[in-house]
Amino acid sequence: MKELSLTTPALAEIVEVREDTKKIKTFTIKYVDRQKQKRFHFVPGKFLMVSVFGFGEMPISLSSSPLKTDSLQLTIKEVGVITHAMLQLKKGDKIGLRGPFGRGFPVARFRKKNVLFISGGCGMAPLRPVIYAIADRREEFGKLKLLYGCQNSDHLLFKEDLKKWGQTENLEVLLTVDKCTPDWKGNCGPVTTLFNKTEINPDNSIACIVGPPVMLHFVLKELKKHGFRDEQIYASLERLMHCGMGKCAHCNIAGKYACIDGPVFNGVDLAKMPLEEK
Ligand SMILES: Cc1cc2nc3c(=O)[nH]c(=O)nc-3n(C[C@H](O)[C@H](O)[C@H](O)COP(=O)(O)OP(=O)(O)OC[C@H]3O[C@@H](n4cnc5c(N)ncnc54)[C@H](O)[C@@H]3O)c2cc1C
Repeated sequence: MKELSLTTPALAEIVEVREDTKKIKTFTIKYVDRQKQKRFHFVPGKFLMVSVFGFGEMPISLSSSPLKTDSLQLTIKEVGVITHAMLQLKKGDKIGLRGPFGRGFPVARFRKKNVLFISGGCGMAPLRPVIYAIADRREEFGKLKLLYGCQNSDHLLFKEDLKKWGQTENLEVLLTVDKCTPDWKGNCGPVTTLFNKTEINPDNSIACIVGPPVMLHFVLKELKKHGFRDEQIYASLERLMHCGMGKCAHCNIAGKYACIDGPVFNGVDLAKMPLEEK
């Protein structure tokens, strides 16, 4: 069977569209070439280059479980031209996919360790496959904790997963919202306020972070305060990128390319990078 080139988009069909929030939808997608779908696998944290025909191409992280390969999911937030066009698409519409690209989370190295997942806003989309990969093989890992923060409760993604994970043995789920509403009974404040609501112990632990730059900045500070060393930290960085293959240099950061050296970086590399504080 001939593999499609990484430079040529493969045709894929949208088989389901779910509205997560007013501006975010999750698309379930299958490659039109069913053999390609059968062979499809990815490491959590990797991304696809998604073509919305007539509008352009953009990098989007895989948001589905890496253990489920009969389809894949992409969770997309409308921010501009291509994402707006994507959110108009319906079941049966076609898109193009290249990839998967980049380096994901080295889940195999997390075996027997405690894993702290920290996420903000739509950072839950790239983090979801890592949580699936680990929570579905619970017995191979230590204690798991998820700290997840959003603007308000309407913005929380994957509520069914959050509920399921919250009921999973040894997986603690802590949620917070920036703006409290009368219906919200949980914690209020940025995700870093959750560090005081649970025991954060760096021993034999790994932290996986995906969220906006400002969140990453403060979470890294908090992890250091709690004794985490750079080597114990992994975070995904979303940089403006075009080719996805280290050719166009748009995503260069401190001598690394987010598309091929990342988007998931170890804390040792992150410590050398100029990360935004706003
Ligand atoms: C590795 C990677 C994974 C990504 N995964 C997802 C995902 O799972 N879901 C999702 O919704 N988005 C994801 N993004 C961001 C997504 O690629 C951009 O939102 C998209 O390219 C914007 O295209 P647009 O034409 O709609 O917006 P444009 O009209 O090009 O831009 C609108 C606004 O969005 C900003 N923007 C554009 N591209 C990016 C970017 N790469 N990162 C941050 N801001 C950007 C622009 O600066 C501008 O302010 C990812 C980006 C990267 C690099």
